[in-house]
Amino acid sequence: MKKIISLILAAALCIFVFAACGTDSAENGADKKVLTMATNAEFPPYEFYEGDKVVGIDAEIAAVIAEKLGMELEIVDTAFDSIIPAIVAGKYDMGMAGMTVTEERLEEVNFSDSYATGVQVVIVKEGSEITTVDDLTGDKKYTIGVQTGTTGDLYSTWDIEDEGLGTVSRFNKGADAVEALKIGKVDCVIIDNEPAKAFVAESEGLKILDTAYAEEQYAVAVSKENPELLENINKALAELTADGTLQKIVDKYIKAE
Ligand code: GLN
Repeated sequence: MKKIISLILAAALCIFVFAACGTDSAENGADKKVLTMATNAEFPPYEFYEGDKVVGIDAEIAAVIAEKLGMELEIVDTAFDSIIPAIVAGKYDMGMAGMTVTEERLEEVNFSDSYATGVQVVIVKEGSEITTVDDLTGDKKYTIGVQTGTTGDLYSTWDIEDEGLGTVSRFNKGADAVEALKIGKVDCVIIDNEPAKAFVAESEGLKILDTAYAEEQYAVAVSKENPELLENINKALAELTADGTLQKIVDKYIKAE
């Protein structure tokens, strides 16, 4: 009898150990579904490289969203203007790239609830004769540096280039546009405020105009074919907002002025 009891106990222990192993392997990621996030890691502090790792506000928000969904996050670095086409094609699950919600983009993808506000600002050299945003649509024609496919590109193309009031010069990276400004190839750069602050802090002799060019909302882009993921992302974002996690991530990267 004793033998039987210990056999049963041993068997129970085995089952217990197996069950424990089972949860373990589910948690170490081996069995987890992958959540792919497309970004353009040239946009500090939202996404940038630290060594060979993409870090930043978007990367961290994505990581907690993935955790909440029980998925494993994989970040793919790609050109900014290829993110939406790739999501439409089903290549990646979501796009997070300090991406502004616009009517045009909404025709192609769905956007989550907004998780941040962005402002398009103008960077000039110190002493520039451009002193307000209105100067860009004034009598004198200027060359404006932008990153291809961004809202800075779209708005300045419509408001300035298409109206014959100036020229838009497009670069693959915001940092390249800023380099062009430094050597006088463009007269100003229109870009989002946070990367603008980071670029100006790294360079001598540049400043951001006090007047903003446009205010916008950043959100997560998801394929229209995947409303379930969109719903789950919105649920996760609401929870992260309510429990203060989102603010904590933002505060880690953006120091209050
Ligand atoms: N917010 C801008 C846009 O959505 C720029 C984003 C970026 O350069 N990563 O177009």
